[in-house]
Amino acid sequence: MVNTVDIKKLCEEKNIRMIDFKMTDLDGRWRHITIPVERFNDDIFVYGIGFDGSNYGYAAVEKSDMVFIPDPSTAVVDPFTEVPTLTMCGDVCVIGKENTPFDQYPRNVALRAMDYMKAEDIADDMLIGPEFEFHLFDNVSYMVEQNKTAFTVDTRQAAWNSGKESADNAGYQVPGKGGYHIAAPHDVAYSLRSKMCMYMEDWGVDVKYHHHEVGGSGQMEIEVELGNMVDMADKTMIIKYIIKNAAVQDGRTATFMPKPIYKEAGNGMHVHMLLMKDGEPIFYDENGYSGLSKTAHYFIGGLLKHVASLCAFTNPSTNSFKRLVPGYEAPVTIGYATSNRSAVIRIPAYAKSPSSKRFELRNPDATANPYYAYAAILMAGLDGIKNQIDPEAHGWGPYDCNLYDLPEEEKAKIQSLPKTLDEALDALEADHDYLTAGGVFPEKLIEIWLKRKREECLEISQIPHPVEFQKYYDL
Ligand code: GLN
Ligand code: MG
Ligand code: MG
Ligand code: MG
Repeated sequence: MVNTVDIKKLCEEKNIRMIDFKMTDLDGRWRHITIPVERFNDDIFVYGIGFDGSNYGYAAVEKSDMVFIPDPSTAVVDPFTEVPTLTMCGDVCVIGKENTPFDQYPRNVALRAMDYMKAEDIADDMLIGPEFEFHLFDNVSYMVEQNKTAFTVDTRQAAWNSGKESADNAGYQVPGKGGYHIAAPHDVAYSLRSKMCMYMEDWGVDVKYHHHEVGGSGQMEIEVELGNMVDMADKTMIIKYIIKNAAVQDGRTATFMPKPIYKEAGNGMHVHMLLMKDGEPIFYDENGYSGLSKTAHYFIGGLLKHVASLCAFTNPSTNSFKRLVPGYEAPVTIGYATSNRSAVIRIPAYAKSPSSKRFELRNPDATANPYYAYAAILMAGLDGIKNQIDPEAHGWGPYDCNLYDLPEEEKAKIQSLPKTLDEALDALEADHDYLTAGGVFPEKLIEIWLKRKREECLEISQIPHPVEFQKYYDL
């Protein structure tokens, strides 16, 4: 545990000139505020730093003063700043006689979900392992400077349409959907991904592995080891920051947009999970289906029951639903199965030991605010355990078949995931008691989220789309 004395020592050792505080806004972006090291003192851990919460999506302008209290145990040297900078995460409070934790602050919601799980005596830890898929695109001006062809969203899409990697490159290139685990010389971003993983290890993130993903057009993946849910939400912020900043250092940009290229593989953020009680994993039963316990089945039942509503937090962009279409290993139907990448819940066949027995939820993507998304996932699963929701009895599987290729009459019997963000918001509006249970998600947050996301849907639906010009301009 780092304390203030340690921080002062660290600043001297590393010649730190700036101390930086990172906060998460409502959408799940990091924002930051910085003080010269000369201004640093112990009071900051008590009185915090004031800021305007209205620009974070949190507070009304007329009552927008909030305070950030840094957590010294999160202090690390930011590897991306020119000026030596020590950076910290922390919590956000509402100012009153006493500063009280702001109930909508994403990290506080995630902490409350964990407390709720413990108070209900269901488990004492939730371990999760997210997978990060992303696309790399080149920074055009940097590439021009280097006299190289730039791969941008437009050139990649044009290449896809023309069947070539780059519209102006007729030589062999990785075909679309042919990039999975591709080796050198086609894995052009190997060094960059390795650098990203080195930054992650230095920041305290345990990387499991990294590889080129299915998309021929610069799609990558980095997976991390399982860890405590709130800690992993912090780490999700760190991982995305590292991926984006390391890409920029290399003359590229990284995007987690779920579907940047039409007809190419999209970017998911599958989430593996298991619960622990008294130091023991409680999802394992050697006699259960696929080695899963009854508790794990009920957890799955809760996830599947609430998955449409859950999408409002795990897939919160209009682009999210362009990924959830058949044919790209992204889920479209509500069901679970072993080894099945067309199902929304896949139980990995290779995870056999009691401590690794788990399943993954495949619909989430990284446009989610990780704190809300992971907390919502936990709340849905806990509801399943509390109400003993049996997924098989509800007809949600197990489906050991390719769900994309079922005959139409079979497909019609299976419930679909929402097809648009609006549909997910309808589901959230109708089904959110599992989130507000125990005051974990404040009603106000659900209200704000629905309003904000509805506005986003409306705005995007009203913008003329480039394809509308192709289809209608000359009519
Ligand atoms: N990209 C796929 C998705 O959108 C997953 C593909 C994979 O991990 N093999 O979820
Ligand atoms: Mg993976
Ligand atoms: Mg993958
Ligand atoms: Mg996966």
